[in-house]
Amino acid sequence: MYEQNYLARRLRAASIGRDDAPFLKDHRTGASLSYGAFFANAERMAAVLAANGVRPGDRIAVQAPKTQAMLELYVGAVLAGAVFLPLNTAYTGAELAYFLGDAEPALLVCDPANLAALEPIAAKAQVPVILTLAADETGTLTEARDAASPGFQAVVREAGDLAAILYTSGTTGRSKGAMLSHLALASNSETLKDYWRFTADDVLIHALPIFHTHGLFVATNIAAMAGASCIFMAGFDAEAIVAAMPEATALMGVPTFYVRLLETPGLADAARNMRLFVSGSAPLLAETHERWHRLTCHAILERYGMTETNMNTSNPYDGERRAGTVGFPLPGVEVIVTDPDTGAEVPAGQVGILEVRGENLFSGYWRMPEKTAEELRENGFFITGDMAEISADGYISIVGRAKDLIITGGYNVYPKEIELLIDAVEGVVESAVIGVPHKDFGEAVVALVVAEPGADVSEASIMAAIGPDLARFKQPKRVIIVDALIRNTMGKVQKKELRAAWKDLFA
Ligand code: AMP
Repeated sequence: MYEQNYLARRLRAASIGRDDAPFLKDHRTGASLSYGAFFANAERMAAVLAANGVRPGDRIAVQAPKTQAMLELYVGAVLAGAVFLPLNTAYTGAELAYFLGDAEPALLVCDPANLAALEPIAAKAQVPVILTLAADETGTLTEARDAASPGFQAVVREAGDLAAILYTSGTTGRSKGAMLSHLALASNSETLKDYWRFTADDVLIHALPIFHTHGLFVATNIAAMAGASCIFMAGFDAEAIVAAMPEATALMGVPTFYVRLLETPGLADAARNMRLFVSGSAPLLAETHERWHRLTCHAILERYGMTETNMNTSNPYDGERRAGTVGFPLPGVEVIVTDPDTGAEVPAGQVGILEVRGENLFSGYWRMPEKTAEELRENGFFITGDMAEISADGYISIVGRAKDLIITGGYNVYPKEIELLIDAVEGVVESAVIGVPHKDFGEAVVALVVAEPGADVSEASIMAAIGPDLARFKQPKRVIIVDALIRNTMGKVQKKELRAAWKDLFA
């Protein structure tokens, strides 16, 4: 039934003949959803999509709390040949308006609590159908699922067909939709499953959000492809994770998880029988790596990837997991470091821009051919925008970012988007948004604002003006009114100098 669908066939392969094996265990109730029940529900979801007029290639936008049903919908979308488009639950209505207008989905799934607010926004973007899905899995989507029959014949999808679009923040303030093919997702997850030795005996603590590449593709796809089970958590809860460890084998997290878990009582004992701790999505401080090692005797395995490329590099499973590095290129992934000015490859030990090539790469930005051409070279290499250095023995370190990106708690924030909002506030002359070291979030968003003389501009008034339209993780942790921004002789604001000047703000 799944044979002709490139990704679905691979997601199902390990569980064929093992329908009773558990896939998702709800950590609160202890209830377990078997592989057979999960895929039957995914087939019902596919039938619901088809019955609502969703055709192969159509986008399905989803902004809903993390639930097992949302994963069924993801696989249902794959089976229906549709393009799954998850959206960060923190996005506001104003942000949603852009995504819906840009992606033109055939269907939107939202939290029933947001339905009234989103209806006019969806109508304006001409989204024909809205279904709802709540945190407790009630809503019109699951009602329709339960009324549908399993046995959906998977739509034929080839390697190059799109399976998902994930939006990344844009440097110009406009988010870009990274188009991900069946091949990119399937090949990367297969590679990681083998590299990290996942098997049907694994129990993964699944505490990452499923609107992001890390929780949706790395965690979920690997678990399914291994036929493993997941302890499924609706969100990050350090105590719950520690409590789950004795029954688990692996955890995937962002650095913030590890920093917080280190403060949680009982960690050392609970971690004893775990097999693997993976970190990614933002730099793991060498200090966190070392503290973790001292306390638990486990070396966190750090990997590096991004929405556009899936995962590119990883520290080794066997062998030294070197703190402060992201390890080696994964099998099938080529990595080079180039000179930012000339584009020529630089020798080992020299810092340059990291470029990657492989089946793991995205197919371009949705309806932005000019942006795609800027970042994806004709020879197939993608210019990541991350600055890196490769040691003589081949370990890759990410040493900074050529782009202006801030990563806070594992989420990307592009300063431009926030600066545009602040600059539009009455009485503001200009602003600069920077990332400042923060022990919990890695980086914290900080806004430096220059006001007109005598204008009534304060931290509170700026936050009141921009807060309602901005996802919480993007909101500045501090707004500081300054006399002027540091500029170079060309008049360009010196973000590097500003970051240096404010680096101890949260120390
Ligand atoms: P995203 O598309 O949200 O996954 O963010 C991708 C960006 O996160 C990359 O371009 C890097 O800047 C950063 N990133 C991901 N993993 C790591 C890591 N292990 N170390 C340093 N930066 C990372």
